[in-house]
Amino acid sequence: MFPKKAHYDLVIVGGGLSGLAAAVSAGEQHLDTLIIEKGRTLGGDGNYVEGAMGVDSYLQKQEGITIDPTELLQDELNYSHYEASAPHLKKFINQSGAIIDWLHKLGVEFVKVGPQGKSWPTIHTFNGGGKAAIATLLTKVNEYGIEIVTSIGAQKVLQHNGHVSGLIIKNEATGQVRELSVNDIILATGGYIDNPELVKKRTPLNDRLLSVSDGKSTGDGLQLAWQAGAEHYQMGAIQYGGGAILDKTRPPFVHMASQLAAAATQEAILWVNERGDRFVNEDVNDNMCHAGSSILTQARTFSILDQAAVDHLTNVGLYKELGNSPVSPEKLANLTDEITCDLKNNEKYLTKADSIAELAQKLNLPNLDATIERYNKVVEQGEDSDFGKAAAYLTPLKEGPYYAVELGVGMACALGGIRVDDQNAVLNSYGYPLDGLYAVGNDSAGMLVGDTYAVTLPGSTAGYAAFSGRNAVLNICKEKC
Ligand SMILES: Cc1cc2nc3c(=O)[nH]c(=O)nc-3n(C[C@H](O)[C@H](O)[C@H](O)COP(=O)(O)OP(=O)(O)OC[C@H]3O[C@@H](n4cnc5c(N)ncnc54)[C@H](O)[C@@H]3O)c2cc1C
Repeated sequence: MFPKKAHYDLVIVGGGLSGLAAAVSAGEQHLDTLIIEKGRTLGGDGNYVEGAMGVDSYLQKQEGITIDPTELLQDELNYSHYEASAPHLKKFINQSGAIIDWLHKLGVEFVKVGPQGKSWPTIHTFNGGGKAAIATLLTKVNEYGIEIVTSIGAQKVLQHNGHVSGLIIKNEATGQVRELSVNDIILATGGYIDNPELVKKRTPLNDRLLSVSDGKSTGDGLQLAWQAGAEHYQMGAIQYGGGAILDKTRPPFVHMASQLAAAATQEAILWVNERGDRFVNEDVNDNMCHAGSSILTQARTFSILDQAAVDHLTNVGLYKELGNSPVSPEKLANLTDEITCDLKNNEKYLTKADSIAELAQKLNLPNLDATIERYNKVVEQGEDSDFGKAAAYLTPLKEGPYYAVELGVGMACALGGIRVDDQNAVLNSYGYPLDGLYAVGNDSAGMLVGDTYAVTLPGSTAGYAAFSGRNAVLNICKEKC
């Protein structure tokens, strides 16, 4: 259904995490606000988020966690090769703890705070996941009486005398269009991970890249901003979710909670390429984005396990805490059952063989035998002189049967394409704001990264979604409320 009125102070395009954070802030500031959401449901990929980044939050104070913001800023700028905007990143870091506190006061519950793999201890894990956080924000939005329309997408930003004046919207079900009059627009459409043409500008496409998004992040915010005169800014980073089971028969999210996937990635013993050669220190899995990048340096990637590893992970415990997950189980109790089921179903991504020679033959990996012999020697020596894996994680591969899991790369979201200033105002190619147009969440998070998403600062896209949504509204109000 189309919106009730023809004019609003503010229209928020996208009802995901950043759009809802912006809407609650607009409610607090008494702005006459409309949210338009092109999907049938709200929350976007915010529904799948595990946690949000914050520095100096109430929870970190409780836990005695202190972080020097200047040191953190410097670390992230180095990680981004100075492609991140220092002032924007600094503002986000400095306000991120207060944003966690704001969410907490609204009723969003957090269960813990800490690191994710090798990282700063910044990810605040939502109680009940992103779905619960989204539900809390939505309750607040409804309390403020903010109008929401679903199955309505934004088509074109209208401008008059250099200022935003309106928005053309489309009913996604019927194709009907309508024009709204509006003072300010916030683009909160979730970035471009589901738009292959735009992804291609950042990463050559191949069939091992698997999007785990809900499919609605098609780069609409970027197109709307560019049409309105925004700079075509650098495409930034793809947020790789690390190695993912390469299953071409089902949507990638099906395997997200798979224990076989965890065994093959975060608990990885040995990764080999299409020839059966080892090509990386498997501890690369401590940073899921680095893991994704390293997989893409090879034509194919297989994670090799033996029966001893499967039994250990199923019955005894993990080799290391699940680096990519803020909530780590003690062991992979379902692993053996998952393997049995996958073998019964002849799943192509999983191969079992009684000997290494048989595994090599089945998968056409000519160097596998020599690679495993060499790897076991390294384990015996207690020092990975080949790639530098930490001694504690050098696990031998000696007890058949053997298993190989073929991996692709999961992609959670894509950042970049729009340049914004510290108020989240969209900038033209001369560096000046397009009056009345703002971008937030993944649509503007390219400002925080270089070519690789910084999982060194875990939870940063969700933390930024909340920060930037609120930041844009507070700046609109500074001038007009
Ligand atoms: C599986 C998964 C797990 C993740 N986990 C984390 C995590 O733990 N921590 C973290 O920091 N980040 C995580 N992320 C990244 C996540 O994308 C962001 O943190 C967060 O969702 C970004 O918020 P957003 O508002 O920019 O996008 P979204 O929450 O995706 O919202 C965008 C909304 O805009 C709507 N939309 C798009 N185009 C239009 C249009 N033309 N008109 C109207 N509406 C439109 C979409 O339908 C969608 O509802 C994860 C992502 C995925 C996929």
